[in-house]
Amino acid sequence: MDFFDKLGDRLIEVGKEVSDRAKDVSDSTRMQYEIRKKKQELEDIYKQLGKKYYEDNKDSADDQITAIRETLAEIEDMEVKVAAFKGDRRCTKCGAVVPMDSGYCNKCGAKLDESIFEDESEEAGETEETEEVTED
Ligand SMILES: [Zn+2]
Repeated sequence: MDFFDKLGDRLIEVGKEVSDRAKDVSDSTRMQYEIRKKKQELEDIYKQLGKKYYEDNKDSADDQITAIRETLAEIEDMEVKVAAFKGDRRCTKCGAVVPMDSGYCNKCGAKLDESIFEDESEEAGETEETEEVTED
């Protein structure tokens, strides 16, 4: 009897150790998840900070600022080409690309009325706008 009592105690002990270990594992898994989440939050904050820094230092000659400026210009250039391909148009106020069916500029909010269409069709021959590329 004594032997079985001891065995029983030992089994309970082992069981407790196993469940403690399982708890540790789940704690550590949860913590790893928390760490990943915190790191992601940190990345987002870094991104926001970087964007803000860029906005505040747009004209800087800093390598990374220059790289951002050039990348933005490239994107803009490609967006214009894609817009032209799709038949979209550019806002006459701010130059943003606006979908053909949109009534307002989604960037500056300018109302895009029919006169914009007339500009393109009726007065196309009047002014040559081939050099409308924005460079500084
Ligand atoms: Zn606009």
